[in-house]
Amino acid sequence: MSRNLVRQLRMRPRVGQSPIPSQSARVIPSGGCHSFSSTARQRIMEMSCFTGNQVLVRETVGDVCKQFPNTYWRERDRTEEDPKEFHAALAQGGWLGIALPKSLGGTGLGISEATIMMQTIAESGAGMAGAQSIHANVYATQPLAKFGTKEQKESIIPKIISGEWRTCFGVTEPNTGLDTTRLTTIAKKKGDGSYSVSGQKIWITCAQVARKMILLARTAPIEEAKKPSKGISLFCIDLDRSAPGLEMRKIKKMGGRAIDANEVFFENYKIPANALIGAEGHGFRMILHGLNAERCLLAGEALGLGYAALKRAAEYARDRVVFQRPIGMNQGIAHPLADAYMKLEAAKLATYHAARLYDNSRQDSSIRQDDVGVAANSAKYLAAEAAFTACERAVMTHGGMGYAVEYDVERWLRDCFVPRIAPVSREMILNFISEKVLELPKSY
Ligand SMILES: Cc1cc2nc3c(=O)[nH]c(=O)nc-3n(C[C@H](O)[C@H](O)[C@H](O)COP(=O)(O)OP(=O)(O)OC[C@H]3O[C@@H](n4cnc5c(N)ncnc54)[C@H](O)[C@@H]3O)c2cc1C
Repeated sequence: MSRNLVRQLRMRPRVGQSPIPSQSARVIPSGGCHSFSSTARQRIMEMSCFTGNQVLVRETVGDVCKQFPNTYWRERDRTEEDPKEFHAALAQGGWLGIALPKSLGGTGLGISEATIMMQTIAESGAGMAGAQSIHANVYATQPLAKFGTKEQKESIIPKIISGEWRTCFGVTEPNTGLDTTRLTTIAKKKGDGSYSVSGQKIWITCAQVARKMILLARTAPIEEAKKPSKGISLFCIDLDRSAPGLEMRKIKKMGGRAIDANEVFFENYKIPANALIGAEGHGFRMILHGLNAERCLLAGEALGLGYAALKRAAEYARDRVVFQRPIGMNQGIAHPLADAYMKLEAAKLATYHAARLYDNSRQDSSIRQDDVGVAANSAKYLAAEAAFTACERAVMTHGGMGYAVEYDVERWLRDCFVPRIAPVSREMILNFISEKVLELPKSY
């Protein structure tokens, strides 16, 4: 498939035109409603009307993932080696540009398709390691594509889509955590227009392998800003490890071990004037633009983990015989899995509703960003919790073997804490819904 199919997908259908040329090996009728289901039998998602292109994304990304079986991901998790072959295979298929404009070499599809792609990757068994190997390239490039100059976009985005360069996203700081607007990393403007960056970032995924970082830093001290969210700027910087003032240290972590997470230290690290994205001091607003999209992607990743674990648990419950009958004949095993299935399906509805709302809001100004925010945050919360339920029950269904690496479910359980914690925690989503939907007093 690869390039060819991506080219087909780029040709968005006009009204009455099939999105898929007739020579395509896959026959997915255009128009009408399509479905994809992670379970073979009842398909409650049939009601949710995916497009032919969306189902095609799922199938073709799934084909790429089949080249990377669980043995690959288990080994990468053990050795903590970057899955660069997987990143390269997706880049070769053109998938890293799924939600980037066609003019820059992307496919020009939406966050709905990108979410389907991320679900498919995680669900293939790759888990968070597979998803995180490309996550920032798909998502952190969005503000650059929207607010960057022509020169920035044309010199950077095609290289990220082709896989030549990788990128990471530098927001979180050790001393401010979720209170992002109080971040203290500072980019001081010099007489020649360049900047000198000092400060510390933490938990930066893929910093070891990234050539670029989308960096959020203060260009005006918080005391001088009208609001904490002002005076923050967005940059797309080179991570030049041979230059003075840049150091990074890998964090040992619980899951997704193939993917590096890092503390990054800047000390008078020089970046050129043209690294600034958009207007100085308006970086926080630009980041907000992409946050709802990222929540949708994370929700998709969580769903993938949950469905992978549930499928594996049901297989085991059918096959494992104890007391002369399959363990799945015991309701103590069957009911928690049935409950996990319903939670995942409900979260899936919420996820693709949010992604569709996000995509529609680009054309339809009557869709308020606040409403997209409520949908995207709710979806991320529900999908992460449903994934946790499914992964934990999958381990328990396996009894002792749930604790064995070779059954994969322990890996997925370790992975599934990531969408619960990042990019925003459960508690902050509950705070947000309390305030924005229930109109309760702001608590933070
Ligand atoms: C694997 C992984 C990868 C990551 N990748 C990246 C990345 O690439 N780039 C990046 O910038 N960041 C990344 N992060 C960081 C991530 O976004 C943060 O960890 C997350 O936003 C939580 O911030 P914190 O860890 O500082 O928690 P804290 O802000 O210290 O919060 C700690 C706990 O207190 C709770 N809490 C805090 N304040 C309140 C309140 N007012 N009300 C209720 N509860 C509250 C939180 O919900 C949380 O449970 C990653 C994190 C992980 C674990």
